Amino acid sequence: MEFKESARLYEEAKKYTPGGVHTSIRNLEPHLIFKKAEGAYIYDADGNKYIDYQGAFGPYILGHNNPYVNNKVIEALGRTDLYGTGTTDLEIELAQKICKHVPSAEQVLFCNSGSEATFHAIRLARAVTKRVKLIKFQGCYHGWHDYVARNMLSSWDMIGKRDPGSAGMMEEAIDNTLVCTFNDLEDVESTIKSNDGEVAALIIEPIPHNIGCIMPQPGFLEGLRKLCDEHGIILIFDEVITGFRHDIGCYQKVAGVTPDLTTMGKAMANGFPIAAIAGKKQYMQRFNTQPGGDVWFAGTYNGHAVGTAASIATLEMMENEPVHEHVFRLGEKMRSGLRDILKRLDIESYVAGFGSVFTTYFMGFEPKNYSDLQHNDAVFYVAYRRALMEKGIFKLPMNMKRNHISYSHTDKEIDYTLECIEDVLRVMKG
Ligand code: PLP
Repeated sequence: MEFKESARLYEEAKKYTPGGVHTSIRNLEPHLIFKKAEGAYIYDADGNKYIDYQGAFGPYILGHNNPYVNNKVIEALGRTDLYGTGTTDLEIELAQKICKHVPSAEQVLFCNSGSEATFHAIRLARAVTKRVKLIKFQGCYHGWHDYVARNMLSSWDMIGKRDPGSAGMMEEAIDNTLVCTFNDLEDVESTIKSNDGEVAALIIEPIPHNIGCIMPQPGFLEGLRKLCDEHGIILIFDEVITGFRHDIGCYQKVAGVTPDLTTMGKAMANGFPIAAIAGKKQYMQRFNTQPGGDVWFAGTYNGHAVGTAASIATLEMMENEPVHEHVFRLGEKMRSGLRDILKRLDIESYVAGFGSVFTTYFMGFEPKNYSDLQHNDAVFYVAYRRALMEKGIFKLPMNMKRNHISYSHTDKEIDYTLECIEDVLRVMKG
């Protein structure tokens, strides 16, 4: 595979943009310039074609450039756009759908990114409880803002320690965010007790997909719900990845645990920019979109016709077609195919996943939290994904990254991917 045109264009990109990319995590070797995306496939500037499992970090539940969604967006733009006052019919229709499907959503507000949604959820929780501290989990990602940008992909010696994600963060914000271990209820309980009456909210990815796929152990999410109830803490499920990808009612519907607030984005609109915060009416009414509300909520582009029309269309597809049935079946096929290959080749591994999400950790047991992932062979993990890329299978060549299957993937892509995986692993094993 050649990347000459990508390399040439990347030199141009670097002249005008620091590092030539517009999100830090995009700065990976080789620097690909993408030109086309369709269904399960993406194409780079050299004409290389890839089956896409990266799915732009998760939005593409239906696949790239879905004609139904695109047409709905074009149709909407033929008659409407953005007003900066009042409400659009599209906003009402989308809000109705979300409140119908998502258990925790009695009311909903739209914004433009997952980071905005988590920011608003935390600010609301602080206003409701009149407390300041926040609990998050090591390895979970909730966006780039100061409240949450700590202890994500920490180096092993920094697990659970004070590990800010960025220079320039407010010291106070870092210190008011406490870090717990996923799947460890005792740790959460003792953190709450040693910060008695000070914890406003607990935010969690119900499945931490930002480190691949760590499943909540039976009773863990229920236990968090109970602890939050006992201590007057607002429980926030950050379903920016899991929401709509795992069920039209989000993962909370599958788990049977209802948080107080939910943040959503990504698969909500199949790649178009929109996000949401939803939750109990008694809390949502505190936002100052409601007369008398005292928690500020604003945004010039909130509820833009592009995002709302795309989201309505995406949810309509989920309502009317077997989207989840399809991606769950292919996810299971991928995982069982992977297990067979890894067993045949006698490679120490754990195939993880849920529904359309999968990954293979190169370690001998099921990881239950971030610390366990120290046992994953990161060098092998990245080399494996890079070798697959050379065969036209796009999985982000980065440690702990997950893969996504969309409604556009078919048995053909899964079979071909499994063939390539067996070839690559056989060579790598030597
Ligand atoms: N929450 C989770 C679970 C995420 O994975 C992300 C982004 O990857 C965010 C929040 C932030 O979303 P955005 O990148 O749209 O700001």
